[in-house]
Amino acid sequence: MFLSVCVLCLLALSPALGAPAKGPCARPRNKLLFISFDGFRWDYDRDVDTPNLDRMAEDGVKAAYVTPPYLTVTSPTHFTLLTGRYIENHGVIHNMWFNVSTQEKKQYYQTQFVDDYWDNGSLPIWITAQRQGLKAGSLHFPGTAATYQEEVVQVRQVEPFLYDHNNETDWRLNVDRVMGDWFGRQDLDLVTLYFGEPDGTGHKYGPETPERRAAVRQVDRTVGYIRHAARSHGLADRLNVIITADHGMTTVRRGAGVNEIVLADIPGFSFRDVKFHLVDYGPSGMLLPRDGLLEKVYRALKGGHPNLHVYKKEDMPARLHFSKHPRILPIILWADPGYVINGFLPLQFNKGEHGFDNELMEMKPFFRAAGPDFLRGLLVGGFETVNIYPLMCHLLGITPEINDGSLDVTRHMLVHSDSVCETTAGESLGWRVMVGLSAVAGFLVLTFVVMTTWSKCRRDRESSSLDQPTEDQEKQTSL
Ligand SMILES: [Zn+2]
Repeated sequence: MFLSVCVLCLLALSPALGAPAKGPCARPRNKLLFISFDGFRWDYDRDVDTPNLDRMAEDGVKAAYVTPPYLTVTSPTHFTLLTGRYIENHGVIHNMWFNVSTQEKKQYYQTQFVDDYWDNGSLPIWITAQRQGLKAGSLHFPGTAATYQEEVVQVRQVEPFLYDHNNETDWRLNVDRVMGDWFGRQDLDLVTLYFGEPDGTGHKYGPETPERRAAVRQVDRTVGYIRHAARSHGLADRLNVIITADHGMTTVRRGAGVNEIVLADIPGFSFRDVKFHLVDYGPSGMLLPRDGLLEKVYRALKGGHPNLHVYKKEDMPARLHFSKHPRILPIILWADPGYVINGFLPLQFNKGEHGFDNELMEMKPFFRAAGPDFLRGLLVGGFETVNIYPLMCHLLGITPEINDGSLDVTRHMLVHSDSVCETTAGESLGWRVMVGLSAVAGFLVLTFVVMTTWSKCRRDRESSSLDQPTEDQEKQTSL
């Protein structure tokens, strides 16, 4: 009887002790490296030899392009990658933090350290992963410096002030750290890794230049280095790599014959009617008119320049998903391709810009993915970058937060495309709970069986020796 109960006990324990082997959610969880090369436009591999990016496409998935959210600038679009939410829903609405009461503005770098700018309701994937038992890290990725609901990404390297974004030697040191130390020694499950090129070069020289092509070659060499490093650290078979970017880049029109947009020159418009403004920052702008002057400011600017688009916040095209958030100011401006919005004087000298309408092909980034969970040699059409977040959550086996994307958009890229199921999402925590409960139940059953058997044996012995006192009983009676 004891033996049979123990067999039952072991059978009960076996699913918890063994690795998951059957069922649609039973695939092993691989690590994930998510990389952004800032400003890498979807077609940058067309006029430059990119053997490493080409090889990655052969080994995995290449999308024709991906569509970033509007506003197509760095911090907002990166936070969409990390949360799967449109910008009006996650609230990181601009690269610059600002306060309309004090008129204070912080530039891109300082804004990285304003916790409550980033931490306003949407959790980046690192925190979600950590809460579900995984280990996450981030190197230089926008949003890394901030604290979210009193948590930070556990392993992080925050970009230093005035960091040299195109130093290839430094790029390799960062890759070595991620592969050797973070994925290797510290056994992280998820790392996000950011490179500031080819954005910087695209701004400085323009996207259609030899300098930009050289920056793309540097990116390509780095992709080769990353994949080589994965192999040399024994990670290749258990590491998925996704590479994309935050936005693209287009050439700014300059010179005689270009009708620059200068708001102060528009008849009927005056900055005296505006309480706060965010302009002189590429092709987009936002205005807060003084009380009672919204209609006046709007009417003055609307139609004030042939290449300037002017919208009241509530009238923004729904497809842009850039109107709901309270931080978005009442009047939104954006320029046609090639134009930037100046306040008083044309003092913007970048030769390349982004921040334009996300329908513009020049604003769309690239996308590559390869690793054990991705099909090989698959070319797919364009899709919105909000959908990358649910893909990453699925790869990691974690339950996503509320988001604006869908796994259905990328499911066909996966080897286990039919193995998607909700229970996979809870695998990390749920599996541990199941193992724990099974172990406790097994222990209790075992204890019960041992105690019952021992008591029974004792009773049998006692009943069979009633007429023949044992040595123990003799000793007891002698007391
Ligand atoms: Zn950027």
